[in-house]
Amino acid sequence: MSNCVFCKIIAGELPGAKVYEDDKILAFLDINPINYGHTLVIPKEHYETLVDLPDELLKEVILVVKKIGQAVIAELRVDGFNIGLNNGKAAGQLVDHVHFHVIPREVGDGLKHWPSKDYEEGEMDSVAEKIKQALK
Ligand code: 5GP
Ligand code: ZN
Repeated sequence: MSNCVFCKIIAGELPGAKVYEDDKILAFLDINPINYGHTLVIPKEHYETLVDLPDELLKEVILVVKKIGQAVIAELRVDGFNIGLNNGKAAGQLVDHVHFHVIPREVGDGLKHWPSKDYEEGEMDSVAEKIKQALK
């Protein structure tokens, strides 16, 4: 897509600190990292969201996500990593080219998990039932 920043990085029209590349997938450092080594993994073909991404390509992308996670643990000597994908504007997706975030984590790095809510009595079962039906 001509106005997509990630497509421009793929095309070499914008700079990117690339850490992995093959014919279908690119991984490069996020310009504003949550922690050092924060990496974005993207398919080279432009798809907007996870749901748009063909299953076969998703399988290849997620394997690269796993490799990057292993690499940051081994080489950056961190304790773990978070994988994130903001799917859709409501979820905070700012760049409309589907991308996984791999975020290196260290014990005591100060990042907090998401806040949580409580279910009312019986609500959990009805929510689970709705999702179950949608999956049929
Ligand atoms: P989103 O909120 O869409 O999941 O995250 C988009 C991410 O892309 C952000 O973390 C942001 O820092 C990163 N980003 C946006 N523009 C650029 C860019 O031009 N280069 C790089 N390397 N990262 C970018
Ligand atoms: Zn794109």
